[in-house]
Amino acid sequence: MAGFWIRIDPQGCVTGSVREDYIGALAEDAHREFTPRVADRRREAAEGWRHELVSPAEFDARAKPCLLRQCDHRSRGGRVVEDVQLGEVAS
Ligand SMILES: [Zn+2]
Repeated sequence: MAGFWIRIDPQGCVTGSVREDYIGALAEDAHREFTPRVADRRREAAEGWRHELVSPAEFDARAKPCLLRQCDHRSRGGRVVEDVQLGEVAS
């Protein structure tokens, strides 16, 4: 199966992807592709960053809304203020 590795932030939002046939089957290799320095990888793992291998169908369902910024992860936390400002500009 030619799937995709997806990179997931601590809030559960997918922030990146790379093809499985480019990376291989190991999550460590996927993480290294996004984060070259081992110290940074250790910090990210402790913070809750994850890398998961998904099928093309699962990629469409889970990753695309995030990568297109259409998911609802980003409306939580610090992004709310930004959304309010955009609404005021539009009105
Ligand atoms: Zn998201």
